[in-house]
Amino acid sequence: MRCQSNNELEALVEEAKQQTKYGKVADYIPALADADEDKLSVALYYPDGRCYSAGDTAENFTLQSISKVLTLALALMDRGEEYVFDHVGQEPTGDPFNSIAKLETNKPSKPLNPMINAGALAITHMIVGESVEDRLQRLLSFIRKLSGNPSITYNQIIAQSELETGHLNRSLCYFMKQHGVIDEPVEELMDLYTKQCAIEMNCLDLARVGCVLAMDGADPVTGEQIIPWDIARICKTFMVTCGMYNASGEFAIKVGIPAKSGVAGGVMGSLPRKCGIAICGPALDDKGNSIAGIKLLEMMSKKYSLSMF
Ligand code: GLN
Repeated sequence: MRCQSNNELEALVEEAKQQTKYGKVADYIPALADADEDKLSVALYYPDGRCYSAGDTAENFTLQSISKVLTLALALMDRGEEYVFDHVGQEPTGDPFNSIAKLETNKPSKPLNPMINAGALAITHMIVGESVEDRLQRLLSFIRKLSGNPSITYNQIIAQSELETGHLNRSLCYFMKQHGVIDEPVEELMDLYTKQCAIEMNCLDLARVGCVLAMDGADPVTGEQIIPWDIARICKTFMVTCGMYNASGEFAIKVGIPAKSGVAGGVMGSLPRKCGIAICGPALDDKGNSIAGIKLLEMMSKKYSLSMF
């Protein structure tokens, strides 16, 4: 699929880019610190095959927390709604994405939702397969199908970097293991989770994934139902309530698009029955969302009346 560069979008990107100087790239995963903080790009993918972009959309970035939406979809397909939500809740936390606080205060102890790290780790634990490699390959083939790009894989350097330094995530795992939320070896789960977060693609691929979710799980080109519609609905609902972490409420008011961000600076948007949107801007705000990306989405939402509310 070719994507048309669009002058109007280019102008919005140039304006939003001014915000990058107020942000900072994530460096708690050391390999992410190399990203170029001044960059910003966007792509929009429509179900009729139109695609518009601005900025350097060919560049790859890792999904990080955006992958949480896709593992949630796969876990729901693997295990069913009842099993998944017996182990992970459905409520926003109001806390940072990596917080451990509510794991202790919530009784019985279970992560509040699948978009925070604790919940996402519990969801990754549910992906079915014989081994970590088998589960990873199942996830990769699912994501290749969603993106229409058969060459998608994960970035080994970034996965390794997070595996070596992700002690907070390890502690979330141990806490959940103690309380029976997960029951596999923590290092195995960390191995799979860090590879999942390091799956990389460009804005064009990600906008297509966003479009599949926007179209209730159907492939915009072939019409194949890749994700059952009720699971796509659950994913989009979590994107609204928890997708931008503890900035989700403000984002819903200012932008009004189901969206999920990641600490590499990506944002995936799924505007129901309209289009998929992808943004990459590695400079983050203090909540861990792309600072210029959010500005750009605000401007686009206003200019093109994109809010679904
Ligand atoms: N891999 C990252 C982590 O677990 C993902 C977090 C994010 O993108 N917010 O810390």
